[in-house]
Amino acid sequence: MDAATAARLTVLAGPTAVGKGTVSADVRLRYPQVWLSVSATTRAPRPGEVEGVHYHFVDEAEFDRMAAAGELLEWAVVHGRHRYGTPRRPVEEVLAQGRPALLEIDLQGARQVRESMPDARFVFLAPPSWDELVRRLVGRGTEDEAERERRLATARTELAAEPEFDVTVVNADVRQAGDDLVSSMGLEPLRGPAAADGRDDGATGR
Ligand code: 5GP
Repeated sequence: MDAATAARLTVLAGPTAVGKGTVSADVRLRYPQVWLSVSATTRAPRPGEVEGVHYHFVDEAEFDRMAAAGELLEWAVVHGRHRYGTPRRPVEEVLAQGRPALLEIDLQGARQVRESMPDARFVFLAPPSWDELVRRLVGRGTEDEAERERRLATARTELAAEPEFDVTVVNADVRQAGDDLVSSMGLEPLRGPAAADGRDDGATGR
């Protein structure tokens, strides 16, 4: 696959708690040539989250402004609560530089990107099973009961969207899923002993 094809935009979506954030963070570490978009969000930072690395944490007024000014490639209210969106300009700049770009967003956002950038690659990250998805969702323990129910309901709908995607990557093992994602982007996955070190199974969120 040539550089121009590899430099396409790839959108990674999938049900809540499937481990999109963990897989994309793994790809960011092991494949520095892949540029990972930093979303804007109105939700508060979780412990350990860093402004400009995990998200741009903005208030409602600033999100309104960005959306109204057309600065977001897509945006959505996720889990019926906070707004999340992809700043447009950095994506366009990175693609213009010929660097492959990855968006880790929810299904509503993926559908919007399909409308505006139909040539993007759409990758669905699937859990090994429904039971495993529930285990990851509950195991994360960062949300209260009502929030978990909301997320499970969203996850059921999101799982049904798999056929809309170009490729499915199953997240049974984070590194394997990262390698499969990178291959689907037209990049060469890492080989050799270094690629098998420090395995880290399971979802820990972004
Ligand atoms: P969390 O609050 O757990 O970090 O993320 C919640 C959900 O928001 C995840 O499913 C994540 O994929 C989604 N998300 C993160 N950034 C964006 C974005 O820029 N746009 C959209 N549409 N969803 C996003």
